[in-house]
Amino acid sequence: ARRSPGEPEFLQAVSEVLESLAPVLAEHPEFIEAGILERLVEPERQFIFRVPWTDDRNRVQVNRGFRVQFNSALGPFKGGLRFHPSVNLSVIKFLGFEQIFKNALTSQRIGAGKGGSDFDPAGRSDAEVMRFCQSFMTELVHYIGEDMDIPAGDIGVGSREIGYLFGQYRRITRRYESGVLTGKGVGWGGAEVRTEATGYGAVFFADEMLQRAGQGMDGRTAVVSGSGNVATYAIEKIAQLGGRAITASDSSGYIVDEAGIDLELLKQVKGVERARISEYAERRPGAHFVAGGSVWDVAGELAFPCATQNELDESAARTLIANGVRAVTEGANMPTTPAAVELFEEAGVLFAPGKAANAGGVATSALEMSQNAARSRWDRDKSENRLHDIMRDVHEATYSASERYGRPGDYVLGANSAAFVTVAQAVLEQGVI
Ligand code: NDP
Repeated sequence: ARRSPGEPEFLQAVSEVLESLAPVLAEHPEFIEAGILERLVEPERQFIFRVPWTDDRNRVQVNRGFRVQFNSALGPFKGGLRFHPSVNLSVIKFLGFEQIFKNALTSQRIGAGKGGSDFDPAGRSDAEVMRFCQSFMTELVHYIGEDMDIPAGDIGVGSREIGYLFGQYRRITRRYESGVLTGKGVGWGGAEVRTEATGYGAVFFADEMLQRAGQGMDGRTAVVSGSGNVATYAIEKIAQLGGRAITASDSSGYIVDEAGIDLELLKQVKGVERARISEYAERRPGAHFVAGGSVWDVAGELAFPCATQNELDESAARTLIANGVRAVTEGANMPTTPAAVELFEEAGVLFAPGKAANAGGVATSALEMSQNAARSRWDRDKSENRLHDIMRDVHEATYSASERYGRPGDYVLGANSAAFVTVAQAVLEQGVI
């Protein structure tokens, strides 16, 4: 805390991990002696830079860019870029720290980093977004490379932004280095199913968790927050596995559609038109829009927070529990506050932390890197099957670690301990660096 004043999100992410590691450290005094914890909470290096660009009215705008290279014991730094006005160093550090453990759980030999900017793409033209991305990459180019640091998307960074970023990287370096960014268009080096991977993966994880508890996804109603990349494809996979997602949200409010979300309409409104979520309710008979408010007021057996950090707090958790929620699966990073997680544990609600449940996105990014390196391209079935296998393995590793450390079904303990042992062992074996 002394070293990170004004970084509440980062400190929250660190304490969540450290608080669950006591049983692991009791068995591994060598990790304490080697100062592994002190080394894991300190990024290897961090860059903060100016991003100047010109808007459509020819005015100069200045944003702040970040890239935090957190840990490369398992492989090159890997993690997304977030463009959102709420981005600051604390947010990027919390995301980068979480990424260490998530990436370890995928078993894909990738280290951890995160970056982004306080640029707000909302309401900006394509040309403005392109100029911003070009300026951002003009600085970022110095820090990244396919064997060094490989960024991807996150909030506000989808295939459009990755395209502009890759174009500028290629122009500056004069090299076609496919593996330097992931989430590329499938026509030029992107992996099949990367777009869907985080949402699909979270639902695969939830399905494994429910099955282990003797339940299933079939016939269950789900409350989903967000309407971006993760939420959209979580909603799609829930329907494919026989469930019914009845909500979606954005920063203006949420919609309820008891018949089940019409995915084509959602993709049209949010993905293509980049409109507000209320537009969905206007075009869909039977659906209604609630301005502001909390999507967690809607009753459902499954909850999938897929928007942003700390969006599901203690009072939302109480409402969900009172409404009979059985399982909460984090599609977003750290969407559930620590007090809310505690309430779910006390109430016996199954809880899947994001670093395990949303690892499918980065895992598929690692598959994209492998395909780029081999100059090969997998088809859709192979890609989705690999994703499914990886999520089964992440679930298995997480569940067995929870058993091993004495609390079967405590996925927070399971994810943190399984990931920590993997990274700590690598750091230990590589000496004091
Ligand atoms: P998108 O930008 O595609 O969508 C974000 C969604 O969340 C939008 O509906 C947005 O609403 C909403 N949202 C964002 N910030 C806020 C806020 N402060 N308050 C209310 N709503 C908000 O992002 P993704 O779907 O890619 O990311 C969602 C979450 O999943 C993030 O936590 C991200 O870190 C995590 N994640 C993403 C991965 C990926 O592969 N994309 C991988 C692993 C985790 P609005 O349109 O109004 O801004």
